[in-house]
Amino acid sequence: MAWAKFFRRPGGNLGRSYQPGSMLSLAPTKGLLNEPGQNSCFLNSAVQVLWHLDIFRRSLRQLPNHYCLGDSCIFCALKGIFCQFQHSRERALPSDNLRNALAETFKDEQRFQLGFMDDAAECFENILERIHLHIAPDAETDACTSKSCITHQKFAMALYEQSVCRSCGASSDPLPFTELVHYVSTTALCQQVLERRDERFGELLQAASTVGDLRNCPSKCGQRIKIRRVLMNSPEIVTIGFVWDSEQSDLTEDVIRSLGPHLNLSGVRLTSSKYTPLHLLNFSKAPGRVLKSQTTKALQYSSGS
Ligand SMILES: [Zn+2]
Ligand SMILES: [Zn+2]
Ligand SMILES: [Zn+2]
Repeated sequence: MAWAKFFRRPGGNLGRSYQPGSMLSLAPTKGLLNEPGQNSCFLNSAVQVLWHLDIFRRSLRQLPNHYCLGDSCIFCALKGIFCQFQHSRERALPSDNLRNALAETFKDEQRFQLGFMDDAAECFENILERIHLHIAPDAETDACTSKSCITHQKFAMALYEQSVCRSCGASSDPLPFTELVHYVSTTALCQQVLERRDERFGELLQAASTVGDLRNCPSKCGQRIKIRRVLMNSPEIVTIGFVWDSEQSDLTEDVIRSLGPHLNLSGVRLTSSKYTPLHLLNFSKAPGRVLKSQTTKALQYSSGS
């Protein structure tokens, strides 16, 4: 597990100004154990990210009830680790209970099994999805409006995608969907940095997310048209998962240089309504497992409340 947090210096360039030990998180810092053969770095990274999100940590603490699954309850196991982070005198803690709960929960899918490496961003996303199920099991994942569901209240990005033909004017039906992590290819992102040197990260992200995604015109006029994705809400926390095209390709430095310390979502939103820029909060560098020859690393922006 290796991760670094960044904090902003006015006018600073992120590549030069990042330092471990952020001032944004008020949480005490402890390590998580990863013994030889455990391969728990992906999980530990996800837990550290959640712990250092003040919004998440406080909200979880305040939740009175959940639908408990006993020994395989991810909710209870996570709360247990948080409690130890808070009160234990040890400098490094085991994450075994959560590791076991995760393995038990995803046994059928053969994901996150004991002893096997897995992907940190996907683990993070799955923990959030499970928390939703523990709090609002009856609500549809894509239409959860439960006020106590931290997952959807704090993290969910509500988007729709649509293609509009510039040639004949036809448009496809808007397709709404929800994302907890917005994945982007690092290769596409770095390509956009080269092509659009002066654009802000939000715009680069928008361009990189849709590059090469061409569809047939909905009225079949023969044009190939670009898909457009629009963010409809203003989530308190935005998580971006970087997809590496191969395990060897390491564009980490290029990617970090392309990040801004603030993410202004006006580049990805349709409305120009006033929106507070988000501060860069976490950059998790836990090794991702190769998934369809892709690995992911995650990045988070938060309104910092
Ligand atoms: Zn429980
Ligand atoms: Zn929910
Ligand atoms: Zn057309």
